[in-house]
Amino acid sequence: MIVIQTILVDIHNINYENRRVNKNACGIWYYGNGMISQPIIFTDLDGTLLEHETYSFSAAVPALEILNDKGIPLVFCSSKTKAEIEYWRNKLGNHHPFISENGGGIFIPLSHFTEEDIRAAVPTPKIVDGYHVVVLGTPYGVLREALNDLRARGFDIKGFGDMSTSEVAEITGLSREEAELATRREFDEPLVFQGDTVDFSGFLAAVREKGLRLTQGRFYHLMGDHNKGGGVDVLKLLYRRKYGTIITIALGDSPADLPMLEKVDYPILVRNYRGEHDPTIAVPNLIRADGVGPDGWNRAVIELIRKGF
Ligand SMILES: [Mg+2]
Repeated sequence: MIVIQTILVDIHNINYENRRVNKNACGIWYYGNGMISQPIIFTDLDGTLLEHETYSFSAAVPALEILNDKGIPLVFCSSKTKAEIEYWRNKLGNHHPFISENGGGIFIPLSHFTEEDIRAAVPTPKIVDGYHVVVLGTPYGVLREALNDLRARGFDIKGFGDMSTSEVAEITGLSREEAELATRREFDEPLVFQGDTVDFSGFLAAVREKGLRLTQGRFYHLMGDHNKGGGVDVLKLLYRRKYGTIITIALGDSPADLPMLEKVDYPILVRNYRGEHDPTIAVPNLIRADGVGPDGWNRAVIELIRKGF
């Protein structure tokens, strides 16, 4: 009897030691199917983590605190500019890599991954402002030229580049300071249609003729041949090199998030500002969170953590 007890204690200690070592090295581990996996969460900001009208994330604070305690990486993947995302990273105390302007730019804080991993995942990494930067987007100047050309062809459109800071603040509901950050664009031009009638299908065809794309979040966005999914792919590669096996989660609210949701194990759609789950988004295994924006975000993330993924 004594011998059996000793063996049980030994087994327990071995398991316990393994868990401690793994946890100390890399944050939290999850045990499923015999695999050890690190969760990585990608999230849209506008209308998802940030409430559509007020840009408040307060409803998501309980889940954010749990992620912070457990050291689970939270990657912002937004149509917002680098300058805007840095503003929100500061507000939320987030120090993880991020994806700007609908996948146009990936910004990885230096020393977040090893130099060897960066070189393996990114053929020609650039270093700017303390980040390894991966550019997947079309330069903003090219997008502005295309927008001017489309307008000359009769499409009554106006981009952020045609607006004063005050106008951007007015149509977005951002403060003047935040609106100024939103105009520092590098890879994506948000635009609005003016006038009473919109030949949307004609506009879409003209955009495609130029080798460009249109996506939709709060606004329509003119952009090159990139999307949020490309940014997720690059970071998944890096996180796999860092952690081994990973479990990926993404949260969004609009069609611009579809390419991101398609790339993860747990795609989560929160209710949009109209209180609906966007009916155009269909992804296998889609989880429809019950709650608008950050409220749905909070519920879905806590539920996943409770279930252990
Ligand atoms: Mg959104």
